[in-house]
Amino acid sequence: MNQNSQQAQTLRKYASEKAGRFTESVIREMSRIAAAHKAINLAQGFPDFPASDQIKEAAVKAILEDHNQYAITWGTKSLRDAITLKNKRDYNIDIDPETQITVCCGSTEGMVATLLATINPGDEVIIFQPFYENYGPDAVLCGASPKYVQLHPPEFSFNKEELTAAFSNRTRAIIINTPNNPTGKVFNREELDLIAKLCIQYDVLAITDEIYEHIIYDEIKHIPLATLPGMAERTITINSISKTYSVTGWRIGYVIASGEISRSIRKMHDFLTVGAAAPLQVAAAQALNFPTTYYEKLADFYSKRRDFMLKELAAIGFNCIRPAGAYYIMADIAPFGWKNDVDFARHLAEKVGVAVVPGSSFYQDDANDKHRFIRFCFCKQFATLEAAIERLQKLK
Ligand code: PLP
Repeated sequence: MNQNSQQAQTLRKYASEKAGRFTESVIREMSRIAAAHKAINLAQGFPDFPASDQIKEAAVKAILEDHNQYAITWGTKSLRDAITLKNKRDYNIDIDPETQITVCCGSTEGMVATLLATINPGDEVIIFQPFYENYGPDAVLCGASPKYVQLHPPEFSFNKEELTAAFSNRTRAIIINTPNNPTGKVFNREELDLIAKLCIQYDVLAITDEIYEHIIYDEIKHIPLATLPGMAERTITINSISKTYSVTGWRIGYVIASGEISRSIRKMHDFLTVGAAAPLQVAAAQALNFPTTYYEKLADFYSKRRDFMLKELAAIGFNCIRPAGAYYIMADIAPFGWKNDVDFARHLAEKVGVAVVPGSSFYQDDANDKHRFIRFCFCKQFATLEAAIERLQKLK
């Protein structure tokens, strides 16, 4: 018996049934493949440029000032107050920092704590696909039965009848992500109105991941689902400082929900983690108070990179879908004659020197467009994007 099959047997013996149900994250795997092959990493969504000095200095200061012990489980008062102020300033939403906010270890933990707090075994959770890779496994791990609704290219809009048909009295929650990873879709008012109407009709919770709220282009406005009539009580908003402040490694996110739902989320969060990094919460509180010019510059910064990538990828022959938000581009692989996105992504990483994510990792098994796309991430310095484009020219 060779070493690999021995390892596989040991895993089968000791791994739980749940652990055995999933393959590892393809996004994170592509990052490791990129490192192994010295490929330029346009796979995983993290910036390759420094975070602002101001936020880094605030973190260093917080450590030196000894904010080094456990914070209150659901977040430091200063960060919860900053989140409340931010929501009032940006969206005129009133949130009670004492009862409605749970600071988490990234929005990733926020999503798991939320699902653990709200889902009973067998409850159906509606998830749009393509989806951010974690949602399916998160829902299943928390005992839910995912019900997938297709976002149709090129706009990545849902079909009203398909969405309506997905709701039933078994539906407990719907997960929304706007601006959306991987598609760049930003849900418009009409689409959100229908989601809200169905949530109210079927008494369903809306779990909305809005971590790309400030990375949005072409004068399009982000609409928080919680601002729609009748939605404040049933909406659970998940956010994070990872993308807005280019600190994906800090692992600071937060969940906003009604006081009653927050009580359960806080319990789950406590048992999962005890709390998020205390000094980084102090720094995050300062970041949330950055002036509006910071956010305007951020959107402009990424908009230039989006336009560059769209132009250059099209010149190479990619059929790209123009994102309205977030920092990813979905590109149809058909022009290159590859039938399978995973093989093409491996070829790009190993032979061309550019790592991307095969689109199939954003779809469940029997989805129509499963093997049609690869995803480029453009939250990188221009020098990195230019070097990647130079390598991709080989495909011409
Ligand atoms: N949600 C979406 C839609 C994402 O794209 C990502 C990361 O790429 C996350 C959540 C994870 O964010 P965090 O760093 O806050 O855990």
